[in-house]
Amino acid sequence: MTARVLDGLKIRDQIFTELKTETARLAGQNIQPGLAAVLVGEDPASHLYVKSKIAACEQLGLASWLHTPPASITTDEMLKLVDHLNRDNNVDGILIQLPLPKQVDTKRVLEAVDPAKDVDGFHPVNLGRLVSGRAGLVACTPAGCMEILRRNEIPIEGAHAVVLGRSDIVGKPMALLLMHSNATVTICHSKTRDLPDVVRRADIVVAAMGKAGYVQASWVKPGSAVIDVGTNRVTSVSEAESLLKNFPQRLAKFREKGSVLVGDVHPDAMLSAGALTPVPGGVGPMTITMLMSNTVKSARLRREKTIAKVAL
Ligand code: NAP
Repeated sequence: MTARVLDGLKIRDQIFTELKTETARLAGQNIQPGLAAVLVGEDPASHLYVKSKIAACEQLGLASWLHTPPASITTDEMLKLVDHLNRDNNVDGILIQLPLPKQVDTKRVLEAVDPAKDVDGFHPVNLGRLVSGRAGLVACTPAGCMEILRRNEIPIEGAHAVVLGRSDIVGKPMALLLMHSNATVTICHSKTRDLPDVVRRADIVVAAMGKAGYVQASWVKPGSAVIDVGTNRVTSVSEAESLLKNFPQRLAKFREKGSVLVGDVHPDAMLSAGALTPVPGGVGPMTITMLMSNTVKSARLRREKTIAKVAL
């Protein structure tokens, strides 16, 4: 049996349609949500990511600003820029594209962002709100995974969810979101024993390890839902041949291009899982989508509140 494909592009389109309605409503109050992106240095991957975030803003009619300080910027200069963006009322979301250069204290910079504008959900205040189950801005990738589960009506309450990875930006917030939705959650990491057995007991698997095809199809419980966060570019011919032996079309594409994107779950899981996010086209598009959603949410919470205060 082949797994149901959990299509991230389809959900992105649904959410974009909803966001367009919301931005039109806000426009009626002269509010245009705005995102300020800070991109330091010349890293090509970072440039590509920020470019697609700005393009998404344009598609939705959100204002956007791109700040491109040189790679030689200091922590103090970054803090000044963040302070300036915190004070600008037209800016609803501040995005600091990571990684920052070595000489910059990344934690200090991220903690300087106004939590109300922390659309990446990285600020300790927003993480604390998430821990205690209060409303706040939630990290985009895990928030996107939850949208995939909910909009595909995957039962979460009472399910055994296994999260592979415990990073601050994916694994930990993901586990908290699943727990708040009443799943029973197991968090695994590089020191977890008997990983295949743990995964075999999961109704929902969220893989966020950064290891191409690591989760074997034989570990996946038949009928379970698999959310594959991993995005790994495979360039080795032998690795691609072993991962894609049952997917001749993808293998042919690899041979043409010399590389292929593979998740943390072996592509053969498509033949055992009940539902599965493809890579690419699953979780990937949801991260930018939730960034847009957080920016609109921040505009609503910050500026509608201001309007309400003025009206009082
Ligand atoms: P990360 O910070 O490197 O964390 C990886 C986690 O996986 C760590 O907690 C690590 O355990 C765990 N791990 C590593 N090897 C393991 C093993 N053999 N068994 C069990 N756990 C293991 O990575 P991340 O930032 O969370 O990202 C994870 C993946 O998601 C990457 O492929 C990344 O590219 C992808 N990603 C995709 C998107 C998207 O939009 N699609 C967004 C974010 C991330 P320890 O803590 O013990 O080291």
